[in-house]
Amino acid sequence: MKIKEAVFVISNTDLSKCPQDGKPEYAFIGRSNVGKSSLINMLTEKKNLAKTSGKPGKTQLINHFLINEEWYLVDLPGYGYAKASKTSRAQWEKFISDYLTKRKQLINVFVLLDSRLEPQKIDLEFMNWCGEKEIPFSMVFTKIDKLSSSALQKNLAKYKKEMLKYWAELPPVFTTSSTSGFGREKLLNYIELINKNL
Ligand code: GDP
Repeated sequence: MKIKEAVFVISNTDLSKCPQDGKPEYAFIGRSNVGKSSLINMLTEKKNLAKTSGKPGKTQLINHFLINEEWYLVDLPGYGYAKASKTSRAQWEKFISDYLTKRKQLINVFVLLDSRLEPQKIDLEFMNWCGEKEIPFSMVFTKIDKLSSSALQKNLAKYKKEMLKYWAELPPVFTTSSTSGFGREKLLNYIELINKNL
C-alpha cells in the first residue's frame, strides 16, 4: 500500500468522541518504549506524526490518524509503565477496554512486542485477554535491527511457545525495524488486503 496521505484527526479519552464515519480502524498498542511512535512514523513515512518521547506514559490519549482517506490508524496509550498510579492505571484499563471491546469498526489490533525481550507477562496477559474477548490481533516485533537474526529467531520461538500454551494457532506475526524500514510493506499490505475484502 502506498501512503498518499496521513493526517491527525483527533485525540481524546472518550469513545463517544472518536470519529463516527465508520471507516475501518487498525489499532497499535504496546508497553511504553516498545517503539510504537517510531513504528507509526515509519509506516506513514512522517517524521512526527506520532510523537516519540522519552517519557513513558506521557501519551494517555487515543489518537486517530486518517490514512488515504480510507482507514484509521489508531495510536492507543502504552501500557505497563511502573510509575503509573493505581487510579491512572484503572482509568487506562476502563478506557482501553471500552475502546477494544465496543468499537465496531476496529478490525485489528497490532500488539507491539520488543524483539529483544523474552516473553513478558504483561504482553501475554494482554494478548490472552484479546483472545478471550475475540478481538482480532497480530503480533508485531519491534527493533529487530538491535539483535542478531539468530537471537531474534530464538525470541520469536519463545513467544510462539508461550502463545501455543493457550491458543490452538498463532495470530499473524510481523517483524519490524523503524530504523531500517523492515517489515513496512508486509504490514501495510496486510491492512490493504483486509480493507479490500471488507
Ligand atoms: P513508544 O514509547 O512505544 O512510542 O516508543 P518510541 O517510538 O518513542 O521508541 C522508544 C525508543 O526506542 C526511542 O529511543 C527510539 O528511538 C527507539 N526505537 C524505536 N524503534 C526502534 C527501532 O526499530 N530500532 C531501533 N534501533 N531503535 C528504535
